[in-house]
Amino acid sequence: PRQFFVGGNFKMNPNSVAEKRALTTLLNQADLDSSVEVVVAPPALYLLPLKELIRKEIQVAAQNCYFKESGAFTGEISPLQLKDAGIPYVILGHSERRTLFHETSEVVAQKTKAALAASLSVILCIGETLEQRETNQTTKVCSEQLQAAVDLLKEADWSKIVIAYEPVWAIGTGKVATSKQAQDTHADIRTFIASAVSPAVAQATRIIYGGSVNKGNCKELSTQPDVDGFLVGGASLKPEFVDIINATQ
Ligand code: 13P
Repeated sequence: PRQFFVGGNFKMNPNSVAEKRALTTLLNQADLDSSVEVVVAPPALYLLPLKELIRKEIQVAAQNCYFKESGAFTGEISPLQLKDAGIPYVILGHSERRTLFHETSEVVAQKTKAALAASLSVILCIGETLEQRETNQTTKVCSEQLQAAVDLLKEADWSKIVIAYEPVWAIGTGKVATSKQAQDTHADIRTFIASAVSPAVAQATRIIYGGSVNKGNCKELSTQPDVDGFLVGGASLKPEFVDIINATQ
């Protein structure tokens, strides 16, 4: 059985230390399902203070890192620096980074390799645009995005990778994938991993869904056999994040 995983991707929020404190207090005081792995990803500036303030059961993730260990890369943070700071997770390949910051699947693969080499765990994001879904390219697009990583990760420890399927059309739009759309795509991704890596890795790897998850839709999505958790954007900044963490209860 795969441990249910819920991540909160705060993106470039919240806008104040006070807001961040309020969020942390909420999570620290909530009754959380202890069988769920919970990770929160604040902006880099807040990683260390959040790690200090938040209850120990909740892990902290960076939203990005570079693929070099150190050097003249202004504005970047390295996997080694995250590791040294005690940050266990990094989100890589988020669609906002692919689209707004022009990260290719090859760059995302290099970052994934570097993060694993630094003993970080990775939340690797993939997903298709609306146009790609409407032209039946969802499986192809997700497979190609993953293939770039598979090519570089020959000896990788896949237990340190969580795959986040985030259809671009569902991110921040309020248009959540139906349970069937999520389940079908997750099953296709698992089939791809089985053939590209191994059946054992496919069975063990968590594939989580992201895109307009909220307290109203999380329970039904969580009942799908190949949906192993969520990556939550907007709702992770609100009290309902607790309901999403507890979706399987
Ligand atoms: P929303 O939950 O705001 O749609 O964002 C999803 C997401 O991009 C999580 O990484």
